Amino acid sequence: MGRLVMKFGGTSVANIDRIRNVARHVKREVDAGHNVAVVVSAMAGKTNELVGWCGDASPLHDAREYDAVVASGEQVTSGLLAIVLQGMGIQARSWQGWQIPIKTSDAHASARILEIDGSEISARFKDRQEVAVIAGFQGINPQTNRITTLGRGGSDTSAVAIAAAIRADRCDIYTDVDGVYTTDPRVVPKARRLDKIAFEDMLELASQGAKVLQVRSVELGMVHNMPVFVRSSFDKPEDIDPHGTPPGTLICSEEEIMESHVVTGIAFSKDEAQISVRQIEDKPGVAAAIFGPLAEANINVDMIVQNVSEDGKTTDLTFTVPASDYTRARDTITSAKAKIGYARLDTATDVAKVSVIGSGMRSHAGVAAQAFTALAGRNINIRAITTSEIKFSVLIDAAYTELAVRTLHTLYGLDQT
Ligand code: ADP
Ligand code: ASP
Ligand code: MG
Repeated sequence: MGRLVMKFGGTSVANIDRIRNVARHVKREVDAGHNVAVVVSAMAGKTNELVGWCGDASPLHDAREYDAVVASGEQVTSGLLAIVLQGMGIQARSWQGWQIPIKTSDAHASARILEIDGSEISARFKDRQEVAVIAGFQGINPQTNRITTLGRGGSDTSAVAIAAAIRADRCDIYTDVDGVYTTDPRVVPKARRLDKIAFEDMLELASQGAKVLQVRSVELGMVHNMPVFVRSSFDKPEDIDPHGTPPGTLICSEEEIMESHVVTGIAFSKDEAQISVRQIEDKPGVAAAIFGPLAEANINVDMIVQNVSEDGKTTDLTFTVPASDYTRARDTITSAKAKIGYARLDTATDVAKVSVIGSGMRSHAGVAAQAFTALAGRNINIRAITTSEIKFSVLIDAAYTELAVRTLHTLYGLDQT
């Protein structure tokens, strides 16, 4: 007998029929003799609707009340799944974040899980073979006793954290694709499913925009060495051989991966904005005058490019921020103009970041150079470049995102044959 966490995303619980399908998946694992904790998201589109309502109620709303509103989507699906499971004769009980409790920081709308008490769930496995149906995405701050949420896509993180807390053998993430692909299969039909991917590579893919897993869930998987298996909820539960290996992608430690390619995958994000600060003085302290206020405003700066000045007097500095922080970032820099000292700001919001990821890059030179040639061949202009040990990113005009991703996908031999 094993212990499993099964997480189902929004499209997998989009209506009662799909919830019934999820229940059959759960029953399959229960019948195979496993103890199961299920983590559910809100129905597809629900969280967006709730977020929209908060904005309509007041554009500058209290983050604590935002969390009270948006956490409700998962409350509904956890209750519904428990009802359907009970109707099938399976012992099941729903759990909200506060009931377990899933203790988090007080950073409302992007809280971090601090601690989960898995003892009650484990006791109920033992005493009653009861399935725990847990509302994903939400927790509680122990100091304030208020509901928190974990940031968009946060149910993945709930699932991996619960898997670690109850010492599960594996955390299965059921979604609307049958695994992690070399890039988003909805954008590149030739994308290839990976049988296995190392935590490090998955972490980069997720941080650079592949939304199949929330970044923090991959971090937690890595820290706890919890095998995470991404698979489709649309495979018919009845067709799955309980002893076979279903289609999907295992996220695991690098040592478990035999086959290694230089490039593992390509991610992209259109959620970017570029700000160029023109003619700043080339002297110590200017970068601090720019990035200090941005940090104070809690704005995450991503790419930073500064030129070496030609005359030793002035230079330009360009950086990117998430599109949702663009207005705040621009206003922050404008307010600090006297202290920074610059001639003007040039900004762009129709930009995208395309990132090429692969731990094999550690030992291979020239991988990025090939990309620059290929993108030039397609007449795609590169606005900024950043590199790290296992990835490089280019900032381009958003209109060319799909073309750039497909070009690089073919260039690095990732296309399905
Ligand atoms: P869920 O609601 O189940 O959490 P998400 O929409 O959050 O599902 O994540 C699944 C989606 O992630 C897929 O539909 C796919 O379009 C997208 N995606 C982006 N990059 C990748 C990738 N490299 N591999 C698989 N899916 C990806
Ligand atoms: N429902 C939340 C969201 O849409 C959490 C999740 O689905 O993972 O972001
Ligand atoms: Mg998701």
